[in-house]
Amino acid sequence: MIPSVLPTYNRAPLEFVKGEGAWLIEADGRRFLDLGAGIAVNALGHAHPALVMALTGQAQNLWHVSNLYQIPQQQALADKLVDATFADTVFFTNSGTEACELAVKMARKHFHDKGQPEKVEIITFDGSFHGRSSAGIAAAGSEKMTRGFGPLLPGFVHLSFGDLDGVTNAITDTTAAILIEPVQGEGGIRPVPDAEMKALRQICNENGLLLILDEVQCGVGRTGKLFAHEWAGITPDIMMVAKGIGGGFPLGAVLATEEAASGMTAGTHGSTYGGNPLGCAVGCAVIDHVADPEFLAEVNRKAGLLRQKLEGLVADHPEVFDEVRGTGLMLGIKCKATNIDVVNAGYDNQVITVPAADNVIRLLPPLTLSEDDIAEALTRLDKAALQVEASLASA
Ligand SMILES: *Cc1c(COP(=O)(O)O)cnc(C)c1O
Repeated sequence: MIPSVLPTYNRAPLEFVKGEGAWLIEADGRRFLDLGAGIAVNALGHAHPALVMALTGQAQNLWHVSNLYQIPQQQALADKLVDATFADTVFFTNSGTEACELAVKMARKHFHDKGQPEKVEIITFDGSFHGRSSAGIAAAGSEKMTRGFGPLLPGFVHLSFGDLDGVTNAITDTTAAILIEPVQGEGGIRPVPDAEMKALRQICNENGLLLILDEVQCGVGRTGKLFAHEWAGITPDIMMVAKGIGGGFPLGAVLATEEAASGMTAGTHGSTYGGNPLGCAVGCAVIDHVADPEFLAEVNRKAGLLRQKLEGLVADHPEVFDEVRGTGLMLGIKCKATNIDVVNAGYDNQVITVPAADNVIRLLPPLTLSEDDIAEALTRLDKAALQVEASLASA
């Protein structure tokens, strides 16, 4: 019999009832160190006082009015994002997938309204992830996500990850945009080198294409800059954001330049919930913390510490681990053992990591992780690795 919850997830047998900072707690009091942060979502950790206050304060006044009316919290968050980034304008969504939908629509509408309606194609890359909607799965294009869900939304050209020559060759009169994650998340924590990000910007400029960045996972302080593309010293035309921006409340956004967004006039797009007072009140509190240079400096300091210790862990367990990769607090360990076995051994030792493609385990901890948490993480990951080694030896 089908479970009452549609069985699209293989859930771990863990059930948390409370969160505190980087810790998740089960009903019996067992404490787990959370290096997953709900897949890079709980940027300020669990139950951060500023977020609890923003949410509960707003909840006592007004939850929802719809976008038929002014929403001051939405205006405030849009202003903060415009001040802090390349963007001139912002549309709020409830998820990363919805941000992807709008990014695709915005790019096509831009060219339509410029009198180039033939420009509809968007170049994307293997291993990418842009959400599970029809546009999202068509954009990513992997067999795993698309099989059985045809006919797929047309207009995506898929290239190998890192194939810059392929990009130049793939551009035609119908190309509208390049869509890429500056650091692939689901694909296994694969950063696009700064030089390649610069080259993609250059290619877009030379060919009159829009550069769309998917910073749903790598954005909002995760890499040690407010947004990951800042490391390469470039800016996109359109950017998708979600996950960390709500700190655990469902919130996403599309940020764009005035030029890229020029086709999106009244009536061309909408969302009943997008940009609601609750989500935007929380988003304002998240951005107030994360956009602070001192906060980002701390992220970079702790990222350096964590990375150095992880390099040691990998060296200590060469049968389990292969290498550390990633940037900031968006780290991956490529495994030699099966990544799921390492994640499960982590559960046994009360430390949470997240599997990704390419046999990687992801470490996406709260950006507020303390030095004590880092020390504890290493102790627990070391125990997990010893457990995997023991099972390899007995196999
Ligand atoms: C998670 C993710 C999405 C989809 O976001 P949802 O909020 O799950 O819809 C899109 N792109 C990237 C890079 C992601 O990591």
